Amino acid sequence: MANDASYVIVGASLGGAKAAETLRAEGFDGPVTMIGSETELPYERPPLSKEYLRGKADRESIFTHPQDWYADSNIDLRMGTTATGIDRAAHQVTLSDGSSVSYAKLLLTTGSSPKQVSVPGHDLDRVLHLRTVGDSERIKAAISASSRIAVIGGGWIGLEVTAAAREAGVGVSVVETEELPLLNVLGREVAQVFADLHRKHGVDLRLGARAAEITGSGGRVSGVRLGDGSHVEADAVIVAIGITPNVELAEAAGLDVANGITVDAQLRSSDPDIYAAGDVASAFHPLLGKHIRVEHWANALNQPPAAARAMLGQAVSYDRVPYFFTDQYELGMEYSGYVDPRGYSEVVFRGDVPGLEFLAFWVADDGRVLAGMNVNIWDVNDKIQALVRAREPVDKAALRDPSVPLESLAAPGKT
Ligand SMILES: Cc1cc2nc3c(=O)[nH]c(=O)nc-3n(C[C@H](O)[C@H](O)[C@H](O)COP(=O)(O)OP(=O)(O)OC[C@H]3O[C@@H](n4cnc5c(N)ncnc54)[C@H](O)[C@@H]3O)c2cc1C
Repeated sequence: MANDASYVIVGASLGGAKAAETLRAEGFDGPVTMIGSETELPYERPPLSKEYLRGKADRESIFTHPQDWYADSNIDLRMGTTATGIDRAAHQVTLSDGSSVSYAKLLLTTGSSPKQVSVPGHDLDRVLHLRTVGDSERIKAAISASSRIAVIGGGWIGLEVTAAAREAGVGVSVVETEELPLLNVLGREVAQVFADLHRKHGVDLRLGARAAEITGSGGRVSGVRLGDGSHVEADAVIVAIGITPNVELAEAAGLDVANGITVDAQLRSSDPDIYAAGDVASAFHPLLGKHIRVEHWANALNQPPAAARAMLGQAVSYDRVPYFFTDQYELGMEYSGYVDPRGYSEVVFRGDVPGLEFLAFWVADDGRVLAGMNVNIWDVNDKIQALVRAREPVDKAALRDPSVPLESLAAPGKT
């Protein structure tokens, strides 16, 4: 495809790199420019709270592509450069080095940033967040120099860091405002499984607790004071209270933004020449009939390529079932689907929950499977996705019964 139109991608991480790869794979041979604030080549973040943090993966393994790939693919990769503005009328992006770049089509994969705590002591030495490879290296160093750490926030990242620290023999207190970790993601039934797992590994779970102050002396952290006045001791504090999408650029350019950059099922924003995908995009999901923003790896892997195809004029309707995974201690799991925190009627379990080999299904009032999780049982997630995608009531007794094949429940004329 001979083309002089310039395609620009702002945000050079997994999502941006996958979009660039797709443009070339689809035969686009015009100029492609990637702009990235970080100085590292685009890389994958999941290892940063798992193998890389635990010292079980080397740095080279986290990069999406080797350095040569960008030159070989004729991608103009500008790392260490931030896009500072979009002039929509002139079709130009201004950059932190004072230059600007013109676009025919622009893709925003600007991702997200960790939320900060604002309590007294938030600026002490060894109060850390986890988003970048540098953050992961700082946390790794802090874990190895500590006998106890505190983790504020019992979400996925907080719990993965907790597991890594426990495996390194470091004591951990997790401070979580809800009654259970992951309560707002998984609901009570499955959140309890994660609470039990961490307690079994000796974690001091402070639930229904608020971090009121990060204490320290001589500029160094000494612990966290909780809302009830109690104190947990810590040599380092990891703040993992969620993320916010990096929408500033889109907002300043006057694009529609509401919990992310609003895009349609083609991943196109309110400006027809600007697309968004990955963590930053709030995309209309045809299967769910509403906009959702997905903060997970598989979405950053698959959605930007779909946006790239749409930018090339192909018919695209991004409707993949949201998917994510985690590894904590001996528990590995995959989850597919989408459930509002209180948007299900029952969780149906299949298998051995205490033995951590089971499936869990979030079922609606009318018997539809909204989401499913496989814990230490592999090669079933495609079948779970088929059940979610079918959007038809299933027989709960059959769902619970390991002798009934899942595919028979998703198939037409099911039992
Ligand atoms: C520690 C960690 C562990 C994770 N583990 C899992 C997991 O186990 N399972 C799972 O499903 N998901 C996991 N995730 C989530 C997953 O990594 C993200 O969903 C994914 O990284 C999103 O990719 P993205 O390309 O959309 O955005 P990001 O990865 O956030 O990348 C956006 C990039 O854009 C850059 N940028 C932003 N603004 C500008 C600008 N104006 N100019 C230039 N560049 C800009 C940023 O610096 C960044 O490099 C994890 C995330 C983290 C941080």
